[in-house]
Amino acid sequence: MPLFFEVKMIEAHEGILNWFAREARSFPWRYDNPEPYHVLISEYMLQQTQTTRIAERFPEFISQFPDIEHLGKATNQEIILAWQGLGYNNRALRLRDCARQIITLHKGVIPHDYDALIALSGIGPYTASAILSFAYGEDVPVIDVNIYRIYARVLGNSDPIDANKSMITSFAESAFPKGHSSAWHQAMMDIGARWCKANQALCTDCPLQTHCKSAFNVQMITKKKEKKEPSHRNIPNRIWRGKTVEHLRNCSSFSEKKEILLSIILSDYANKEDTQWFEDIIIPALVRDRLIEYDIESDIISIAS
Ligand code: SF4
Repeated sequence: MPLFFEVKMIEAHEGILNWFAREARSFPWRYDNPEPYHVLISEYMLQQTQTTRIAERFPEFISQFPDIEHLGKATNQEIILAWQGLGYNNRALRLRDCARQIITLHKGVIPHDYDALIALSGIGPYTASAILSFAYGEDVPVIDVNIYRIYARVLGNSDPIDANKSMITSFAESAFPKGHSSAWHQAMMDIGARWCKANQALCTDCPLQTHCKSAFNVQMITKKKEKKEPSHRNIPNRIWRGKTVEHLRNCSSFSEKKEILLSIILSDYANKEDTQWFEDIIIPALVRDRLIEYDIESDIISIAS
């Protein structure tokens, strides 16, 4: 256990909390006493979407689904349409399913318990901890990719991939000031977004500078080799799935003839190979994710009802 850096973090507590009180980024889901429902929605959205995009979409989503009951009643089509612009569309259905589980299993109250949270649809260790910390003020460590990177660097690892995961987890337990888990972890996220970035460490103005072993000594590693994704025409299939749902969202009846849809998303004439790929890969994946329905007889694809 790196006791020295635990002490350094304790020394940082007051300064970081003061800095965060003055300079926290302003988002529609950040309040002094945020509603657990707003935290749940924002954390779900934040799983794979940029904060600026969520800031644009969050108010409209909340006005359409103001609470768990409204969200739980949403049909597949309603929730898929409401998720426009947020990407990774199957999260929309998982979120709606999560609301239904909360209604059925917890009388509509978002659980205040890690094991109960993590049993819900689409909630993993990070989201469960974030809800406990940000919604309920629990003294739990929260580790997202930004916080992991910052702690890794504070402990002397320029590249978070080199860090010992159990050491970071253990450090995270002791790093935050008890009674201030929410402000501390949100402050870390802001530091990660503003200074301690994945591809750049702007140590000169970072509020953790005097507490960080890697300050002014971050070696930027050449970008790790990207994992090769299944693709078609050199574009990952997940992008094609997104394009398909996006086009259907914008159709007047939320449905389209298969061959027309395919030509539109390709912006090109669909050849035999394109049609085969669309039928064998894209349509089954979207049907499996409950995002579309495909009527083979009429050859019409629709947003799931
Ligand atoms: S001082 Fe530099 S390396 Fe350390 S947390 Fe700040 S930006 Fe990251």
